[in-house]
Order: sequence, then structure tokens, then C-alpha cells
Amino acid sequence: MNCPECGAPDNLCQTRFDEFLVLEFTDAGYGAVHHLTVAAYMLQHSSKLTREGWLHERELLREFLIENKPPAFIQKQNKDLVDSGKRKFKIKSRDGLPVINKTTWTKTILDVRVENAQIYCEDVTAWARSTLEDVAEVIL
Ligand SMILES: [Zn+2]
Repeated sequence: MNCPECGAPDNLCQTRFDEFLVLEFTDAGYGAVHHLTVAAYMLQHSSKLTREGWLHERELLREFLIENKPPAFIQKQNKDLVDSGKRKFKIKSRDGLPVINKTTWTKTILDVRVENAQIYCEDVTAWARSTLEDVAEVIL
């Protein structure tokens, strides 16, 4: 079965995502783009998120890619938000229904090559950029 959200054959996207996370946690060269991998994957699989969670991920991706905020800085911002209980919304979906009804993408996780860390980081960045462009006009 093709993934109903990103169109990947045999739901390969989930397998890839799991493999990528292992790679990123075991090799710092790959781990450099961890924040982009997660945000791009979650934006393309909106059934995992609440509406607020999805908008939050899009905003994060915008901050990473357009404002060039370093991930550590954003993580700290988010941590403060969570720690202080200021975050008033849930990120994880409760009903498992997609937030957006978009199923065609310029790039998906299947476009990312893993030969070495440099290629991997370039491809993840290109995938994240195109994902952000793909959803830039989505209004929820
Ligand atoms: Zn998918």
C-alpha cells in the first residue's frame, strides 16, 4: 500500500524515517540535520499531529530555514515554553486524522541519499526546503 500522506510505495517512508533517526543518533555528521528530518517528516504526515502541532512544526521549519536560527537556540526556546507550562496546545494527534489533505510533494524522504553525511545533510535540507515551500500557502 502506498502511504496515504506522502505517496511512498509500501509505506517505505516510515521505515526510512526510523532508519534515519538511528543514523542521526549514532553519527553526529548525520545528526546535524535531525531537526530538519523530524519537522519535514511530520509536516508531510500530518495525521501524527494536532492542528496546532502542525502549525508549530511549520513555524519551526521556517525559523530553521528562513531565519537561520540554530536548532539549539530553538530547542531551548521550546524547552522553556514546555517547562514553564506556557505551551497551551497538544502536538500529538489524538484522532490520527490528517490535518491537511495534501498528498503530492516535490520531494519526500525517499529522495534523501545516505551515502555519506555530506550528501545526506544536503538532501535532507533540500527536502525540508521543498516541503516548507509546498505548505507555505496552506491555511488552517
Ligand atoms: Zn509517507
